Amino acid sequence: MFTRAMPPGAPKKNPKPIPFQNLSVPDGGDAMKAWPRERKQNGWEWSGRCPRCNHQASKFIADEVVTLALTATEVQPVRETYVVRCNCQEPHTDRPDGEQGCGAYWGVEIEHERPDGDEEAGEAG
Ligand SMILES: [Zn+2]
Ligand SMILES: [Zn+2]
Repeated sequence: MFTRAMPPGAPKKNPKPIPFQNLSVPDGGDAMKAWPRERKQNGWEWSGRCPRCNHQASKFIADEVVTLALTATEVQPVRETYVVRCNCQEPHTDRPDGEQGCGAYWGVEIEHERPDGDEEAGEAG
């Protein structure tokens, strides 16, 4: 009989490991809508849980990309679809060298507005 002491302070069960796999996640865009975004020096960064592996992942969209999207059309705001890939820093088996995350990817639609579109709609009197 083997009796192994449980390591102290580790009550959470590890679900079975998720191997790296290039896999489209249909609901990924919806899941990402709950991610908070944070203002960075030259763009926005979304960060939250990967809908596949549930690890911390992030997506950065540079201001110049947004500017390009905004100048490409006169319609404001602009909805752009981006492909997001899981880039979690947790280990996944079968992951090729140089890859990040678990291989999951999804599309997300992000609405861009004119950065200085703070025009007041108040009536001038
Ligand atoms: Zn992961
Ligand atoms: Zn993942």
